[in-house]
Amino acid sequence: LGASPTLWELIERRAALTPDRPALLQDDRSLTFAELRQRCESVAAGLHTAHGVGPGTVVAWQLPTRIETVLLTGALARIGAVQSPVIPFCRDRETGYALRASQAELFAVPGVWRGFDHTEMARRLGAPHVLETYDRLPQGDPATLPPPPADGTAVRWIYWTSGTTSDPKGVLHTDRSLIAGGACLAHALRLRDDDIGSVAFPFAHIGGADYLVMLLLYGMPAVLFEQFALPDALEAYRSHGVTVAGGSTAFYSMFLAEQRRRPGEKLIPTLRLLAGGGAPKPPELYHAVVRELGCGLVHGYGMTEVPMITMGAPDDTDENLAATEGRPPEGMEIRIADGEVRLRGEAVCRGYLDPEQTAAAFDSDGFFRTGDLGALTPSGHLKLTGRLKDIIIRKGENISAREIEELLHGHPAVGEAAVIGLPDADRGERVCAVVEQPADAPPLTLGEVTAYLRGAGLSVHKLPEQLELVEALPRNDTLRKVLKYKLRERFGAP
Ligand code: ATP
Ligand code: MG
Repeated sequence: LGASPTLWELIERRAALTPDRPALLQDDRSLTFAELRQRCESVAAGLHTAHGVGPGTVVAWQLPTRIETVLLTGALARIGAVQSPVIPFCRDRETGYALRASQAELFAVPGVWRGFDHTEMARRLGAPHVLETYDRLPQGDPATLPPPPADGTAVRWIYWTSGTTSDPKGVLHTDRSLIAGGACLAHALRLRDDDIGSVAFPFAHIGGADYLVMLLLYGMPAVLFEQFALPDALEAYRSHGVTVAGGSTAFYSMFLAEQRRRPGEKLIPTLRLLAGGGAPKPPELYHAVVRELGCGLVHGYGMTEVPMITMGAPDDTDENLAATEGRPPEGMEIRIADGEVRLRGEAVCRGYLDPEQTAAAFDSDGFFRTGDLGALTPSGHLKLTGRLKDIIIRKGENISAREIEELLHGHPAVGEAAVIGLPDADRGERVCAVVEQPADAPPLTLGEVTAYLRGAGLSVHKLPEQLELVEALPRNDTLRKVLKYKLRERFGAP
């Protein structure tokens, strides 16, 4: 392979190295690496001849985690098209935005999926050309294909950020940046020859690219879950002997809850690692998983713009694994400037669709500004402490929302808390705590909350001045992240 291989070259090389090894396993279906390559080529030919997809054509897809989705991605990589994956749970607002901003010429959808008609939505949104590819993919004769792309440094991906802090941003990636991210993940997990992986999150998420690359680099088979739920998924984990289970932070608690329902029984006997990231993980959760599930837990820090930034390594200490996001891989430079985590390395995206956003995202030394706050420990481990946009400035004092949230989570009548800053004529911003309470908990009052936080040692100037009780915090559909801008809209009236 050359200096900057393409994703298609990884597929070809893997098919040559271990043609008969299973690559993808789903329900009772499986596909070897040789079949993967061959089927991608025939799908590529179908897309090319019947749908006019050529090098550089922008193709958006909003598909669940299925073998067909990987085939479509591989086919588009073979052609050298530009792909824009959209999370299958996104609806008109976000999907429409992604289609318009990417100027997608073709939109691949699953038809009716989980009771929702994606084809109808695509039509409603005026998508120029809609293709249903849930279980049927176009086919053609590979001899009709133009040569595969030669350059791994061209922009071939437009991913979408979660839209936690504002509207989603279109992120430009190259095969090279995605391959760098996947290689780092594989290294961080200390993959072994006999590992069997699994993917229980939408492939359209940037973590899907990490997994696909890892699978190709290491020839690791992966079990795919289209609709992940426990205990339903247990049978697939057990029968395929999954050793590394990939998911989001919410996934750790799901495993733990299931384990607690089955005392004395090992949930997945072959499991050696739960691997995830993308959101904070409470240290107690780490300890509980390791103790009760009897496997390792490696948690990482990544973002749509940089698929892998730091990751815990299975051979690190419990203390580091519980309380930090791990260390950066080789080739990833981390610098903390004004409290903000900044990065330079191959896995960093090229920028955003919007050139103004790109210009604002890199500092004068070419370091990417993550917008996250953090610190490096003497051993080089990263601790995230919050987000720049999550800093409340009250009377000129910086207050970290996360610090208050972590304390609130210790209160028995708090299910989940989100702390936000609201515009305030006298103070600039005032601190507002929004609390989701467990069903059986008595309603909290502001007085109780501030007394509790004082007792926990919180500085007086950080105490919330407003409390809002909500039935459910607004969250996005991908990682269930709390959408604070919606809370600010809702409670921000002066
Ligand atoms: P937007 O950029 O549109 O506001 P977003 O930043 O939530 O949305 P993503 O790219 O999906 O969109 O998420 C990346 C962010 O998730 C990171 O910048 C960071 O704030 C958070 N994050 C990722 N991993 C971790 C982690 N291990 N611990 C804490 N936060 C994390
Ligand atoms: Mg972001």
